[in-house]
Amino acid sequence: MKEYDAIIIGTGIGGAAVGALLAHAGRKVFICDKNKIVGGRCTSYEHKGFTLDLGVHLFGVGDKGSLGEVLRMTKEPDAIEWVIARRSTQQVGGESKKYSQKDMIRSLPENEQTNLTNLFGRVHTITDQEIDELWYVPVETWVNGYTKHPLAHAFINSIVAQYFCVAPQVASAAEFIKCFKEVLVARSSAYPKGGCIAIPKAYLMVLEKYGGEVKLNAAVQKIIVENGTAVGIRLEDGSELRAPVIISNADIKATVAELAGSEHFPKEYAEKIAQLTWAASCIMYKVGLKEKVTDDQLRMSVSPAKPPQDASEVEKGIYVPEMVSGMIVVPTNYDSALGPDEDKQLICFGTGMPDTKTWGKLEWDKWQQTLRRSLLSSYPEAEDKILWEKMDTPQLVEAYAGEEGNIIGVGQTVDQIHERRPSVVSPLKGLYFASAEAGGHGIGTELAASSAIELFKVLASEG
Ligand SMILES: Cc1cc2nc3c(=O)[nH]c(=O)nc-3n(C[C@H](O)[C@H](O)[C@H](O)COP(=O)(O)OP(=O)(O)OC[C@H]3O[C@@H](n4cnc5c(N)ncnc54)[C@H](O)[C@@H]3O)c2cc1C
Repeated sequence: MKEYDAIIIGTGIGGAAVGALLAHAGRKVFICDKNKIVGGRCTSYEHKGFTLDLGVHLFGVGDKGSLGEVLRMTKEPDAIEWVIARRSTQQVGGESKKYSQKDMIRSLPENEQTNLTNLFGRVHTITDQEIDELWYVPVETWVNGYTKHPLAHAFINSIVAQYFCVAPQVASAAEFIKCFKEVLVARSSAYPKGGCIAIPKAYLMVLEKYGGEVKLNAAVQKIIVENGTAVGIRLEDGSELRAPVIISNADIKATVAELAGSEHFPKEYAEKIAQLTWAASCIMYKVGLKEKVTDDQLRMSVSPAKPPQDASEVEKGIYVPEMVSGMIVVPTNYDSALGPDEDKQLICFGTGMPDTKTWGKLEWDKWQQTLRRSLLSSYPEAEDKILWEKMDTPQLVEAYAGEEGNIIGVGQTVDQIHERRPSVVSPLKGLYFASAEAGGHGIGTELAASSAIELFKVLASEG
């Protein structure tokens, strides 16, 4: 049986990042993934000559945040080539504008403009101590302190949806203000050359450079627990590996309940983990064009929501809206090598989905038409330039990364944030977490990378 210093289950951002940090610090690391490709949710795949991301990604503070910090800590600061997002637009109804605070403010009636100006101003002046008082306050409540105007709420809600994929009624105001402030100050939202997969690949490059081992297509079947301590893993092929540190980047609920087994945890902890709620899931419409139709790199599309006349239609999964709001990323405008040649364009539109319980009943063809319509309302000239179009559903995300195909991980809601969030250290001796499900702070991948840094510091201090 092979012995390591640390075994990591999953090559998602959190797993790959903590693997790089530990290997660079001289630990003997083994990392495996059930998938044939690395990166979990932050991965890319080939389709008809294009490189497509599994999700629809933009990285909030790019190199300046935790994603870049992992590489600075491992002395490989240039292992990812970031392209800063400079051309961002916003579409509200039929109107297209620059995606800026000024333009959002100007869209409001005059008597409301000062309120939104005050809110944006507050984000810059609020102190860390004041933020600390807002961890368990919902974003919507905080915004109501400034404005009740529906369009002002729609703007903030679209940022909340983009960052956390949870509703403003439950999203943490402190986490929102912290992330928003970081994005505004850093002005470094970016996308990596080579697509999303370039990030986990860079981390695993570091891991291997310092002697770590990567094994793909290798699902962990069980975490071996002996005398109340996690001591190793059993892979699906029956092989067993041992280490004093086992780190799960996999689904936290499945890790506790199935991989390790709830019986090894205090009852209250196992129950709390089982009850965690995920961020929303999403569907994505991706289209390859034979010619460029836009210079946009990012477009936030805000479509006035028309609720169904009969609310039970949502529950039954039969309601398909005419148009949806969403986030549009044009990866080939960051890196033309993601298309088969310089002229071609790839546009991706992602939007949140109703509860996963309705998936089985959903009519994906109708949803594809809605997403297509929504995207073409931004770029009507794309219609006769389509080479191919496809839709990726939450089931695809689930196949890659589990967790019911949700977008982020454990939702950053008022009941699951800050001190209410699972810790990177589990109560089972020897078992730790590094992912967007435990510890950390930030937006999606940055949350996962910061969880990895947090865990690395704990392990380094333990020696
Ligand atoms: C549609 C979409 C859009 C997104 N947009 C953005 C965005 O714009 N900006 C942003 O920053 N983030 C975005 N995210 C979120 C971001 O991708 C995730 O929050 C982040 O990548 C999660 O990383 P993680 O470390 O939790 O690992 P995960 O992605 O959860 O990966 C876990 C890994 O563990 C592996 N695994 C699971 N079980 C086992 C097992 N038993 N054995 C071995 N391996 C196992 C899985 O195969 C997977 O590779 C988006 C995600 C999606 C899906």
